[in-house]
Amino acid sequence: MKRVFSGVRPTGKLHLGNYQGAVLNYVRLQDEYKCVYCVVDIHALTTLSETPMLQANINDMFMDLLAAGVDPEKAILFVQSHVPEINELAMLLGMVTPLSWLLRVPTFKEKARQHPENVNYGLVGYPVLMAADILLYKADIVPVGIDQQPHLELTREIVRTFNQRFGHTFDEPQAKLTEFPLVVGLDGKDKMSKSLNNHIEISATPEETQKRVMTAVTDPARIRKNDPGHPDVCNVFKLHQQFNTAEVPTICEECKKGNIGCVECKRKLANCINESLAPLRERRIALEAKPDYIKEVMNDGAKRASVIAKSTIEEVRARMNLR
Ligand code: SF4
Repeated sequence: MKRVFSGVRPTGKLHLGNYQGAVLNYVRLQDEYKCVYCVVDIHALTTLSETPMLQANINDMFMDLLAAGVDPEKAILFVQSHVPEINELAMLLGMVTPLSWLLRVPTFKEKARQHPENVNYGLVGYPVLMAADILLYKADIVPVGIDQQPHLELTREIVRTFNQRFGHTFDEPQAKLTEFPLVVGLDGKDKMSKSLNNHIEISATPEETQKRVMTAVTDPARIRKNDPGHPDVCNVFKLHQQFNTAEVPTICEECKKGNIGCVECKRKLANCINESLAPLRERRIALEAKPDYIKEVMNDGAKRASVIAKSTIEEVRARMNLR
C-alpha cells in the first residue's frame, strides 16, 4: 500500500469549505492508502505573531477531524511538533535548497505583501518545512489542489538535488490531483474562509447555522418576494447544489417563477446542512467530553509517526556523513 501525507493548519474549528474540500477526501483516502495526517502547528507559527490560542486550535482541529471520520486505527493522526525530527530534516534540506527557489514561491510573495511587518525566516523557509513533512514520512502521494502544485514541484526539486549530492535517499512524491469542490462563502464573492468571516463551522449548533445562513447574499436583482429570481447567480443556490442536491431542480424552478422567497429558501438550506451534519456534531460533542481520549490519540499518532521519522533521519544523517 502506498503512503499518503497531508498536513492541515490548526486554524481552529473546521468550516464547510474545509470539510467538503479536504476532510471528506481524507476519509476516503484512508481506505485505499496508508495515510499520515498531520496537524501542522509549526507551519502555523510562520504567520502567527502570538500563540495564546494555538493549543485550543490544535484540539479543535483534532476533534473535528475525528468527528468527520478520520479513523486513528486506519490513519496516523498526529501533531507536527510532537515528532521533533521534523526540525532537523527541515534544517538539513535547507542546505540543498537555493534561496532563489524560495523567493519565487507565489504564496511567499503574497504573504510578504499582506504582512510586511512579519516577513520572517520561517516564512521564506515554509516550502522546505513542507518538503520535510512529506519526506520525513517517505510519502509516495500528496493530495493537492491545482494551486498547490508548485509547492509539490519544489519538494520534488529538493529531492532531485539531495539525491544527486548524497545518493538516492528519497523517491519523488507524486501529486494526487483532487477535484476539490469550491465552496463559496456567505458573502457570495470569495472562497469560504475563516479570515473573511464568510464561513459556517461544521460544529456550529443548528441555531448558529440557521443564523449564519440567513446572512447569506442572494440574487441582488430580487427585491420583492415574488420577483422572478436567477438561481444561476445566487450564492444560496450554489450552496443548495452542494448540500441539498435532492431539492435543487424544485428550488431552481420555484425561484425562477417567484414562488419561493429567499428566507424560506435559506431556511431549507440551513435545515439540510443541519440534518447532514447531525451525526458528525453528535460525535464532536461526545469527543469534547473525553479530553483524555484525545490526548491518547495524539500520543499514539506521534509514537507511530516517530518510528518512520527516526528511521528516515538516521538514513539522512548517514548520507550526509553526520555520524
Ligand atoms: Fe437564491 Fe433561493 Fe432566493 Fe432564488 S429563492 S434567489 S435560489 S435564495
